[in-house]
Amino acid sequence: MKDFLVIGAGSAGCVLAAELVRRGAGSVLLLEAGPSDRHPLVQTPMGLIWVMGSKRDWCFTSTPQKAAGNREIKVPRGRMVGGSGSINSMVWFRGRRDDFDNWNVPGWSYEEVAPAFEAVEAALKPSRLATPHPLTTGLSSVFPETPPTPETESSGVFAYNLVGGRRNSAARAMNLGKLVELRTDAHVDRLLWDGDKAVGAVLVDGSEIRVSKGVVLSAGSVASPGILMRSGVGPKGDLEKLGIDCREGAPEVGENLHDHPGVGLHFEGAGSGYGLEAAQWLNWALAPFKYALSRTGPFASPTVEGGMFFNARGVDQAPDVQSHFIPFHLAHMGPRFQKKSGYFADVCLCRPKSRGRFSLASKDPKAAPLIDLGLLKDPDDLETLAAGLERLRGLLQAADFGTRRAPEVYPSAAVKGDALKEHIRANCGTAYHPVGTLRLGGPVSERLSVRGVENLWVADASIMPSVTSANTNAPSMMIGWKGAEFIAEDAA
Ligand SMILES: Cc1cc2nc3c(=O)[nH]c(=O)nc-3n(C[C@H](O)[C@H](O)[C@H](O)COP(=O)(O)OP(=O)(O)OC[C@H]3O[C@@H](n4cnc5c(N)ncnc54)[C@H](O)[C@@H]3O)c2cc1C
Repeated sequence: MKDFLVIGAGSAGCVLAAELVRRGAGSVLLLEAGPSDRHPLVQTPMGLIWVMGSKRDWCFTSTPQKAAGNREIKVPRGRMVGGSGSINSMVWFRGRRDDFDNWNVPGWSYEEVAPAFEAVEAALKPSRLATPHPLTTGLSSVFPETPPTPETESSGVFAYNLVGGRRNSAARAMNLGKLVELRTDAHVDRLLWDGDKAVGAVLVDGSEIRVSKGVVLSAGSVASPGILMRSGVGPKGDLEKLGIDCREGAPEVGENLHDHPGVGLHFEGAGSGYGLEAAQWLNWALAPFKYALSRTGPFASPTVEGGMFFNARGVDQAPDVQSHFIPFHLAHMGPRFQKKSGYFADVCLCRPKSRGRFSLASKDPKAAPLIDLGLLKDPDDLETLAAGLERLRGLLQAADFGTRRAPEVYPSAAVKGDALKEHIRANCGTAYHPVGTLRLGGPVSERLSVRGVENLWVADASIMPSVTSANTNAPSMMIGWKGAEFIAEDAA
C-alpha cells in the first residue's frame, strides 16, 4: 500500500507528487484520468491547435452565460499526463507580487511563495521565446522600456516553459517516472472514507485504491470540487437533491469560480502573419522539416507569442488588462483554416470582479458538470474590457509592424462605444484560467487541508482566492510545490 494518493497528474499534481517523494514524506501513487502525454503534437508548440478538442481535452462547456449573450463558452482542460499544462500555450508568468499579498492568507504572501516559484523555475526553465515572428518582435516598441510583466505597463515577447523547442511540462520536468507510480486511464469517481479520514478513492470502473497517509486532490478547478461533492463534502442542499449523502456540509465548495474574461481583435492582410495564403504554401510544406531540423518556423510557435500589460483607461502605470498576441490568421467566421494571412490580439482582465459557481448536474462521474463562469456579471468587467479594446487599437499603432501591418477586419475599427460593448457580450470568452472553487480560507485551510475531514488536502488552481494577474500555469505549479511542503510537515 502506498502512503499518499494524488488525484490528477496536471500542473500542480505532478509537482506535488514528485516533491512529496523528494522530501521523504512517503511513497506516492499518482492517478490520471487521461492517457500519457507521449504524442508528437503535445510536444510540438503549435500542436496545441490540434490537441485542443481531441481525446486529450475534457472539452467542457459553460452553462449559458446570461450577461454574455446567453452563450455556452468553451472550457478546455487538459486530459492527460501534464494536465492543462500539456495542452496550454506555455506562457510563463508568476503573477503580480500584490496578487499574493492581497490574498491575505498566512503563508501565501509574495515573500512566502517566491521560494516555491524559484524551485519550480529551476526545473521548468522558462525563457523568452527563441524565434518569435517578426510581428511579435515589433510589439516591444509599444513600451520599449520594459519586457512584459504584469507589474507595470510593458510589451514584447513572452517567456515560455519550452526547452530545446519542445514543451517542458511539469510532467516532463519533475522526473516523475523515477519518483512516483503513475497510473493513466484512472478516472476517479469519489473518495473512500474511514470515519472522517480520507483513505483512498473509488474509480469510475468500480475499483478501489487505499493508501495509508492521505489523499491529495489535484484534479483542477473543475474536477476537484466535483470529486469532493460526489464524496459528500459540499453544499448540503445541492448534494441531497442529487442523492449524495452529505458527510460534511461545506456551502462554499464550488463557489467563487472565475476566470480571465477576454475578447480580441482580428487583423487580416497579405504578407502579415502566419496563414495559408498562397505565398506561404512553400513555407508550410517545409515547416515540419524545419521544425524537426532546427526547431524554428511556425511549428515552433506556441501560437500566443507575446503581448502587453497596460491600464485599460491609460490612467495609471498599474496594468488592469493583459493582451495576448497571436501572429497567425484566426478566422472570425467561416471555415477554421482559410487561404489568408493575419494576426490577432486580445484583451483579458487581470482582476475580474465577476464570480460564478461550479456545481454537479448528477452524481454520475461521467456527466458534464454545470460550469457557470459568471462571465461579465459585474458591469465593471464589461466597461474595463471595452476601454481596454479601444486602448489596444491605439497601442498596436505604436508597434513596429512595418509592411506587415494589416487592417482590423473584426469587429473593425469603426465599432466603438455601445456597439463595441455589444460586440464584447457576443464574443467574450476566457483565457482558460478557471480558479477559485475551493478557495484558501474557505473550504480549504491555509495549509491546504479540507476543513471538517482528515487526511485530505487540495493542491491545484482551485485554491486561489482570486486569480493572479497573468497566466495561471506557473502559480498552479507553485501551489503544488507549497502543497508538498505543508503535507510533508503535517502528515509526519
Ligand atoms: C488551452 C489552454 C491554454 C492555456 N494556456 C496557458 C498558458 O499559456 N500559460 C499559463 O500560464 N496557463 C495557461 N493555461 C492555464 C494553465 O494551464 C492551468 O491554469 C493549469 O494547468 C492548471 O493546473 P491544475 O494543476 O490546477 O490543473 P490541470 O493541469 O488541469 O490538471 C488536472 C489533472 O487532473 C486530471 N483529472 C481531472 N479529473 C480527474 C479524475 N476524476 N480522476 C483522475 N484525474 C482527473 C486531469 O485530466 C488533469 O490531468 C491554459 C489552459 C488551457 C486549457
